[in-house]
Formats: sequence, C-alpha cells, structure tokens
Amino acid sequence: MILRSLTLDFFRNYLHFEGEFSPGVNVIWGENAQGKTNLLEAVAYLSTASSHRARYDRELIQFGVDHAFLQGEVAARDRDFTLEARLSREGRRQLFSNGVRLKSAAELSGVLNTVLFCPEDLYLIREGAAERRRFLNDCICQLRPRYAEALREYRRLYEHKTRILRDWEERPALLDTLDEFNLRMAQTGALIIHYRAHFVKRLREVTPPIHRDFSGGREGLDLRYETVSTVTDPLAPARTILDQLLSHQESHRKAELEARQCLSGPHKDDLAVELDGRSARQFASQGQTRTAALSLKLASREIFFRETGEWPVLLLDDVLSELDQKRQEFVLRRITGGQVFISCCEEMELNRLGEGKTFHIHGGALVR
Ligand code: ATP
Ligand code: MG
Repeated sequence: MILRSLTLDFFRNYLHFEGEFSPGVNVIWGENAQGKTNLLEAVAYLSTASSHRARYDRELIQFGVDHAFLQGEVAARDRDFTLEARLSREGRRQLFSNGVRLKSAAELSGVLNTVLFCPEDLYLIREGAAERRRFLNDCICQLRPRYAEALREYRRLYEHKTRILRDWEERPALLDTLDEFNLRMAQTGALIIHYRAHFVKRLREVTPPIHRDFSGGREGLDLRYETVSTVTDPLAPARTILDQLLSHQESHRKAELEARQCLSGPHKDDLAVELDGRSARQFASQGQTRTAALSLKLASREIFFRETGEWPVLLLDDVLSELDQKRQEFVLRRITGGQVFISCCEEMELNRLGEGKTFHIHGGALVR
C-alpha cells in the first residue's frame, strides 16, 4: 500500500498542503509545533476516519474555520483509490472513495491500512488492560471484518446488559431479558476470544525476535493472552469456548446483580507483556518500555504483510530522537519493505534510509 499524494485544506494548522510521497521512506522534519504530527494524523485519518489524539472531528478543523478537507491518492491491491474526507463543524463528516460516498468508516478499512507509532504508545505497556485490548482490536479489525462486526455487536450487547444490571431493582421486569443477553454475549464473546487467541499466537511468534534484535540480544520478551478464567484453551473452537463462558456467567450471576455491572466476558481481557520473565508493566525501564511497544507495532505490521501480501503504511512519530544510535539503526533496517513516514526535528541523511524523500515543515506549510 502506498500513499502517493496528499492534499489538505484547513486541517489543523495547515491552510493548504500538497505533497507527493516516495514509496520508500518519507522524512517529515521541522521544529517543534510546526505540523509534523498533524501531517501523520491526516494520513492516519484517511486510513481509519479517526484520530489517535482527537476525540471529536471538529478538533481537526483549523481554528476559526468551519470545514476541513483531506484527499489522498492511494495505490493498493493493484488498484488506485482516491480517498476524501470532508469535515464540518456543524454537519456530519463525509467520506468518499473514488467519488462514491461511504456509509460508514468501516467501508474505509481495507483501502489504506496504517500502523502508527507515537510517543503516547508507551501506554501500551504502562497502562491498564484497556490500552492493550485496543491494540489487539485495531490489529484484528484491519485483518478480519468478521471480528470487527463481532466487536460492534458485543459492545451493543454490553451496553444493553449494563443498563439491565443498573436498573433491575427499580424495574424487575428487565430481568426477563437477561438470559437472552447473556447467551448472545457469550456467543459473540466466544468468537472474539477465538480471534484474539489466534492473533496473539501470531504475535508471540513474530514479536520476540524483533525485540531481541532491537535490544542487542539482551532482552527476552514474552506475551500471554489473558481471558475469562473458565476458558481452558482460547485457541479452541468458538463452540467449546461458548460453554465455558456460559458456565462463568452462571457462577457470576449473583455477583453481577449485586455489583450492578457486567463482570463476566472478554471485555476484561489483557495481553500480558513480560521481559525476561517479569511483568513489563511493573518493571520495565523507559527505554525497555519504548522498545517493547515499538516491537509490538512492528510485529503487527509484519503480520499484516504476511497475511495480505501488502505492507501497511508505517507512521513513526518522533521515535528516533529517543533512541540510542544502535536502536535507531535497528529501526531503520527493520522498516525496509513498505512505505514509511518518519517525523523528526532535524533533517536526516537519506543515504541512511535508502530510497526516500524529505519534507521540511514550517508553520503548517511545506518549505520548498
Ligand atoms: P513537536 O515536534 O513538538 O511534536 P509537531 O510539529 O508535531 O511538533 P503538531 O502537533 O503537528 O506539531 O502541531 C503543530 C501546531 O498545530 C501546534 O502549535 C498546534 O497548536 C496547532 N494546531 C493543533 N490543532 C489545530 C487546529 N485545529 N487549528 C489550528 N492549529 C492547530
Ligand atoms: Mg509532534
């Protein structure tokens, strides 16, 4: 997958941007607060119709303006696509692929896939399980449309069941539907666990060698998928998992009614990351945390390539500056293959990078 060109109007601090990119490495450089992250954010937006750092689309629109426009020319699966997003402060956002209006962001998936690594990704290791579930969800959704569907369904059921558990004392009739919701959540949950387990299995094959090389052979990383305690083998067929989920729900029924929240199901799953046998979340240093998080992201990119034959576009925001020389060299060696966007504060010598192009960004504009 290649993003050939990008056009922006009134996106963040860009009044207007037009750029044609290299299929290799694109270095986006400039001083702080000039628009480097904004540019990567725009590329990611064309991929997922969402931003890693904006809660609402209107944050992406330039201050004082009421609309923004993004357009990207993409080559993927031997075809050309023109992706467009029109954002408006008042109305709904509109997405287009080759001029055809898309009904939802889900239809965008599969055109331009991206893997983004940014400074906030240290949370992937440091924070609670929600961050790691999000990582798993993002990765699997890009590969398996059925998983994305199951996840949406599960979230809907979860919200509904949460309301039942919250209000049942005031409205006992709600309990009549609880069994039905439990069953459907267990069915959808079994599918989710099955997909997650298989993805983590791939991740366990691909990530440790990356991390080992990255750390100069010094550190061993291991991953473990943690799900509902009654599930003996998450890799088992969904039918087997279903029975085990139902029995877990049954044993937690009373506790759920008392706590008035869903206690049973894969919405509490985690991906445990260990370094040399110790929990990375608790014990990893700053550098180890960064290395582990980046290894996971690079692994997800390689898995995507092995599964689909296409490299997702890699967006590396501000990673190199924090790494020592050896680790920088490692990253630059490892990212050959697909198209890459790297932001940094100083101009990099391209001969370190192979084929590529540099873009100097200043004040929300390209310096020619
Ligand atoms: P750093 O090296 O510090 O990470 P950067 O080049 O990545 O800097 P960006 O995060 O891209 O900087 O932000 C550039 C500028 O864009 C910031 O000064 C920010 O205030 C501004 N900005 C953010 N959102 C908007 C918006 N909606 N309209 C106008 N400007 C905005
Ligand atoms: Mg930045």
